[in-house]
Amino acid sequence: MKIQFHGASREVTGSCYVLEADGVRFLVDCGMFQGGREARDKNYAAFEFNPREIDFVLLTHAHIDHSGMLPRLVAEGFSGPIYTTQATAELLQIMLRDSAHIQEKEADWGQYSRGRNSRKARDTEVKPLYTLDQAEVCLGQLQPVVYDADLSPHALVRCKFREAGHILGSAIIEVWVDDAGQHKKLVFSGDLGNAGQPILQDPAIIESADVLLIESTYGDRLHKTLDQTMDELVHAITDTLKRKGGNVIIPAFTVGRTQEILYLLYDLTRQGRLHDLNIYVDSPMATSATEITMKHIELMDTEARGLMQWLKRGQNVPQVRFTQSVEESMALNQIKGGAIILSASGMCDAGRIKHHLSYNLGRTECSVLITGFQAGGTLGRRLVDGAKIVRIFGRDVPVRADLYTIGGLSAHADQAGLLSWLGHFRKPPHHTFIVHGEENVAFGFADLIRENWNWHVEVPGYKDEFEL
Ligand SMILES: [Zn+2]
Repeated sequence: MKIQFHGASREVTGSCYVLEADGVRFLVDCGMFQGGREARDKNYAAFEFNPREIDFVLLTHAHIDHSGMLPRLVAEGFSGPIYTTQATAELLQIMLRDSAHIQEKEADWGQYSRGRNSRKARDTEVKPLYTLDQAEVCLGQLQPVVYDADLSPHALVRCKFREAGHILGSAIIEVWVDDAGQHKKLVFSGDLGNAGQPILQDPAIIESADVLLIESTYGDRLHKTLDQTMDELVHAITDTLKRKGGNVIIPAFTVGRTQEILYLLYDLTRQGRLHDLNIYVDSPMATSATEITMKHIELMDTEARGLMQWLKRGQNVPQVRFTQSVEESMALNQIKGGAIILSASGMCDAGRIKHHLSYNLGRTECSVLITGFQAGGTLGRRLVDGAKIVRIFGRDVPVRADLYTIGGLSAHADQAGLLSWLGHFRKPPHHTFIVHGEENVAFGFADLIRENWNWHVEVPGYKDEFEL
């Protein structure tokens, strides 16, 4: 049996692993590379394997860096089932369509900008990575599975999806492969959440594996505690709404972060630490993701279920309005104070959040709360780095609002969380592969595991192959 690493190898995005045993070949995740030109080239490069020869796909969760290349896999001939949890399948309905929409828009734009500078328009044709129609075909191949249930996607393969506590529907996948009479257990951690993270249950405990792939996004650092995060939120919101009388603008990722912030605002109201909040969720995609989350009460932890009961009783609960149309969104620009506006994109480089920033950044009585990672080159990063003036829609906007960076909200386990999860293994796996982390982080985390337990650990590179 062998494994090939086609992404998330010494980097964070592009998760995609090919498993090949005698008589079966399957993928775990088929994610998009994200960030800059190099990522784009990798996405456009041909698959290193023949999609027609893949029997099935196991998908850990809906994030685009794990799922975003599935439509292309299907467009290039993969016709088998894609197994994933029910909630992930529901989230993919909005996320893969959105991704296809972005691909089509970028291709249009590329064509236009190149066409103007080129004499041979046909040579410069820019094709989208995939189209909305191709995404629709791919969605038709999703096969929802139940957590903790036995699944046999193939005569030689059995697997189980376990809670990963990362985003709604996320899974650790246990896979048993019958390889020429030898039985091997593989464990794919997927992205692992924080124990104690709002809304979701903690990652399932796994005690054994012959082959383990573990993510290492934050293998080099520790997060702030949730208590500290709640204190920071209370201070920022009370100071802005009550003392200064302005608005609070929160850029947030549509899946996960938006729902966590809503949860914390509800919970802080229930605790009596915040009062009379007027919250606007101004992102149709975040609204859909919130609806899907609210529907899956069975996936929530005990605290979140308790909060849902309190919400149902409906006394002193915050006002939350979900805006859909562009007109409703624009109407928010007239509100001068007292509003909390949650909008996307999470890094402020696209979407409705840019309008809210252009209206509120220049006002000293307002605040912007940064609640997630801001990649280099984004508007969000320039704000975090302390820019005094930023350019939005071709206009210079002075930064006069207060800027708060709320730490502690992360969908990924930190170093302590990863080590504690690994600590449940009763004996060392024969192979442990560190994936889904920047190069220095992944190597550092590998060293840490060797120091702690003396395991045999590898940090695979892009396109590396290992005999198992
Ligand atoms: Zn993820």
